[in-house]
Amino acid sequence: MIETTVAGSLPKPAWLAEPETLWAAWKLDGKGLVEGQRDAALAWIKMQEDAGIDIVSDGEQFRRHFVHGFLESVEGIDWQRMTTMGIRDNRYDAQVPTVTGKVRRTGPVHSASVQFCRAHTSRKLKATLPGPMTICDTIADAYYGSRPEMAMAFAALLNDEAKELEALGVDVIQFDEPAFNVFMKDVKEWGIDALHRAIDGLTCKTAVHICYGYGIQSNIDWKNSLGSQWRQYEEIFPALNESRIDQVSLECANSKVPLSLIGILKDKEVLVGAIDVASLAVETPEQVAATLRAAAEFVPPERMTACTNCGLAPLPRSVAEDKLKALGAGVALLRQELA
Ligand code: ZN
Repeated sequence: MIETTVAGSLPKPAWLAEPETLWAAWKLDGKGLVEGQRDAALAWIKMQEDAGIDIVSDGEQFRRHFVHGFLESVEGIDWQRMTTMGIRDNRYDAQVPTVTGKVRRTGPVHSASVQFCRAHTSRKLKATLPGPMTICDTIADAYYGSRPEMAMAFAALLNDEAKELEALGVDVIQFDEPAFNVFMKDVKEWGIDALHRAIDGLTCKTAVHICYGYGIQSNIDWKNSLGSQWRQYEEIFPALNESRIDQVSLECANSKVPLSLIGILKDKEVLVGAIDVASLAVETPEQVAATLRAAAEFVPPERMTACTNCGLAPLPRSVAEDKLKALGAGVALLRQELA
């Protein structure tokens, strides 16, 4: 049976943070913030369950940003020393903190929020962590002097964190690596090694989410520069297929990624993105089913999980809710067909 899941992030309610904004500041603080994050996560878990999503997530309600949410609890990073950095190969400039010493986790980062979510759903639960390469592309380095070395240092911390989350009953741990289709040579030289270090010893499902990013303007401009076919994955999928990661995601809704590239991932489970995150138009269930059907030419249903192209965080909340419903309904259509 084809299962359904989400890539990760979902919009924050307007009372929790400024809507339709990435890196939005919290509107609450202290104990009120923790309560607000929990209420928001509960609302999204219920919404995902009602939409028929099988593997649910907290929608990243407990973090401001998918990378810095993890880094905030890491020692060796100077948050006063912000550096302007052209990230994802200079696609956009971001103000990032600086690594000034050996990195060390000061304690569990996501344990409390995962424990809370685990207690409130009987569905399978996905936890997301930033991948080591993407961390290194979202932080300035004034200590390690080598990206592969810094990536390995972060991967060790991610591994400690992931083992704790697994012990709390998480079913899938996904590493978000949007840097993987920007630095294709590095992926093969050290990116997958770093990912392997991050999943070392895990027995739960592991996933890597690679993508062409949120539907923000700088990403739209970048995608427009990539030509009529996006073949970046062709360069890294053979290495990913050889890797020990269980699941690989790719965007298939309104995407210029040739679906035949899925065929390279012949030994992997494939998260097929069937919801466009760069458009406010809500897919119909028939459209979702059609996207999955087209992907099914290259991956059999038993290795396919229906997913969103990327996180839904920057979308209006009601649009994200409707897109989740369309995803669930579209998969239900396909299941009937296959039954
Ligand atoms: Zn993404």
